[in-house]
Amino acid sequence: MPNRIASTSPQAPTGQPEDGLGAWRGGDGHLRRVSVLLPVPFGALYSYAVPEGLELEIGDVVSVPLGNRQSLGVVWDPEPEDPELPDARLKPVTSRYSVPPFTAEARAFVEWVANYTMAPLGGVLRMALSIPSALEPPKPRLLLRLAGAPPGDLRLTPGRRRVLELAAEGFARPASQLAQEAGVGVGVVKSLLKTGALEAVEAAPSAAFAPPDWERTGLVLSPSQESAAMQLRQRVAEDAFSVTLLDGVTGSGKTEVYFEAVAAALAQGRQVLVMLPEIALSAQWLARFEMRFGTRPAEWHSDLGPPRRRAAWRAVADGGARVVVGARSALFLPYENLGLIVVDEEHEAAFKQEDGVIYHARDMAVVRARIGGFPIVLASATPSLESVLNAQAGKYAALHLPDRHGGAALPRIELVDLRLEKPPRLIETGQGWLSPPLRTAIAEALEREEQALLFLNRRGFAPLTLCRACGHRLECPRCTAWLVEHRLVRRLACHHCGHGQRLPRECPACGAEDSLVACGPGVERVSEEVAALFPAARMTVLSSDTLHGPQAAAEAVEAIQRREVDIIVGTQIVAKGHHFPLLTLVGVVDADLGLSGGDLRATERTYHLLHQVAGRAGRAERPGRVLLQTHAPEHPVMQALARGDRARFLEQEAASRRRGGLPPFFRLAALILSAPDAERADTAAQALARAAPRVEGLEILGPAPAPLAVLRGRHRRRFLVKARRDVALQAELRDWLGRVRLAGGVRLAVDIDPYSFL
Ligand code: ADP
Ligand code: ZN
Repeated sequence: MPNRIASTSPQAPTGQPEDGLGAWRGGDGHLRRVSVLLPVPFGALYSYAVPEGLELEIGDVVSVPLGNRQSLGVVWDPEPEDPELPDARLKPVTSRYSVPPFTAEARAFVEWVANYTMAPLGGVLRMALSIPSALEPPKPRLLLRLAGAPPGDLRLTPGRRRVLELAAEGFARPASQLAQEAGVGVGVVKSLLKTGALEAVEAAPSAAFAPPDWERTGLVLSPSQESAAMQLRQRVAEDAFSVTLLDGVTGSGKTEVYFEAVAAALAQGRQVLVMLPEIALSAQWLARFEMRFGTRPAEWHSDLGPPRRRAAWRAVADGGARVVVGARSALFLPYENLGLIVVDEEHEAAFKQEDGVIYHARDMAVVRARIGGFPIVLASATPSLESVLNAQAGKYAALHLPDRHGGAALPRIELVDLRLEKPPRLIETGQGWLSPPLRTAIAEALEREEQALLFLNRRGFAPLTLCRACGHRLECPRCTAWLVEHRLVRRLACHHCGHGQRLPRECPACGAEDSLVACGPGVERVSEEVAALFPAARMTVLSSDTLHGPQAAAEAVEAIQRREVDIIVGTQIVAKGHHFPLLTLVGVVDADLGLSGGDLRATERTYHLLHQVAGRAGRAERPGRVLLQTHAPEHPVMQALARGDRARFLEQEAASRRRGGLPPFFRLAALILSAPDAERADTAAQALARAAPRVEGLEILGPAPAPLAVLRGRHRRRFLVKARRDVALQAELRDWLGRVRLAGGVRLAVDIDPYSFL
């Protein structure tokens, strides 16, 4: 067998790529055996033979036999020891799909992510091939036109006549369009096809995505916007890896500014990916994109139906889609020619994927840009501490937009001390949640015919139901969690596993009748109070329970813009991105809500969320006012918000993270064991603990029962691993986990850079 060195020597036959694959190539220079990566959760590399007549290159998408079925796969860079396998033992590749091959960049990215997150390669590849039907060639469209000679015995109804007259104009159209233009049912058109009066011709599938027109002029930028835009255009022109933090207050026009970078990348013929944390809520963003570029971008998120996903996947792969706007999974699409990524709201925790392959899409996007050698822009009004520190260290360039566009003032943020300003009870609804100052402010906004948003990040009616007689709390049978009452649908629901049940009339523990009481507010409960206080106001409740899908969200947003709503009661679903010119009052019902729980980012997250919500107020000419109801007005978060002193807040936060040995100064990884029963979970945890590495700079905390000790019926134990930044964390973990065999039914999830500690 020839060795690798020989194949790359100057004597290698001309025309044969010098890629070190000599051993894998036949005499004609074609690959005769390949490594194929299967996109399945535990997929690894397998060797296959390439049958006579099939020409394959690395990156090709293929169909291969796997057991007694066919599997998808991607021809991958070979494992070094593979050539020693005897050819006779290899099964042949079945066929190659006619889609563009995975580029070296795309493959390097899959490998990098798998390596970093410690997920199997195949699990990562699966995210890039999430819609296998996209690999089949799209069906040709059938267009109808007038047949040569119409049959003599054709019975002509008025409808048929209109269709034939239209068809006689000459150009072929789809049946549905012909029917619609002629004002007849599709049946009439089809009957004409059957009689032979019309004939069908195949047309190439329609181009799914019109190219964005980057030459259109955008809005006239303000001087500070223009200078930021110029810097971004410059980054794009450099065509090299760089990270730019676009740090601008809410309403400063960050979107308009990064649109200039998008235009510049399009002008260079590159593809662009814009990642939004909550793509389902992006109707306004899409409309603005269309205004700027004259067409819609390709969308990529889980709410899309299979036909649109198929079309988007293919268009991304063959370069037909120039701009993709998507949720985190859009990062793994096989771009033909990606040249710019924008991550909007880069601080959002929603970019962290918490199941399957556990990864942070913002961090991986930076990696994708580095591998591709192109710029990435991270935009936010409240950048994450990580990004701010990277900017301070000079690793990221920072651009600042200090003012709201059009001179709108930032809203005034006032703290309402709930210990002094107790919400009065109401006859209609009992306990109240809105303090006297907030009630007054709402009344004043209504008086001025402006809109108010009452924000409470809690779905449903009440987060806890307990028995007045015995104190029993209604808990999920499968999770360590309270059941949340949803009064509108008269049910109790677990927000962790989706378990649902009717609200019982008697206490399941003591049997007392009518003894169950709701504790604490959710948005439904606040809406009852609003209805009782302001019966004439038009109110809408916006949460993931009331908004099903992007369509519903878009309609709700439009209704608010059309001024059909006076008071919005909503969860974080309304906190971001939206621009409502008449919204001048934001009331935060429970500003302390996110602070409990001991999560290392609880403070930062609360700051981000409240700052975002506050940013909804007064975005146009009319000034905004924000009232934060809190039991802890002296808390640094509340103080920072009220004073508008972000710098000081970030300093305090950085200092406390440094002291605590927390990210980004140290690195964290979480190991989560789960088992069908507590005993097996504990046994596995002890085995893992015994094998734990003793390494300088590595500290292992746990095992401990997870705060969500039982989830979906599985018992959970956690380890938290803290590592100094110079420790090879993944290598140590790999070593550790490689020494332990887990019993049947026990699962282990590795979460590098954890954001959730439940
Ligand atoms: P951000 O993303 O920073 O919160 P946006 O990009 O959403 O800000 O801009 C806020 C509002 O101001 C939007 O309605 C936007 O269309 C408008 N706007 C921003 N810049 C300009 C400009 N240069 N000319 C006109 N309108 C602008
Ligand atoms: Zn549950």
